[in-house]
Amino acid sequence: MPILLDDAEELEPGDFYEDCAYHPCLCTGTDMGMVEGISLVDGSYPRQCGVPQCDVRKLTLEEAIHWRLHGPPDVPTEIELTDAQKYWIK
Ligand SMILES: [Zn+2]
Repeated sequence: MPILLDDAEELEPGDFYEDCAYHPCLCTGTDMGMVEGISLVDGSYPRQCGVPQCDVRKLTLEEAIHWRLHGPPDVPTEIELTDAQKYWIK
């Protein structure tokens, strides 16, 4: 299960996380409560999110791949996902 972060320092470069737009991202660094990374969905960067205000979740490699291919499995359907959805394989 994805782990909700309390502190940006729980992520290290090379870890995977879900940002507040539900993109699976590769972490490139953390700084003063912010997480920075690259979206695995569309390559956009820097994907900066604040912890804890953005509800950033740490993902395993397997989860990051699943998110990339199918989207996050546990997001309520009433939440409007972003453009990312159109890149996810049906
Ligand atoms: Zn954010």
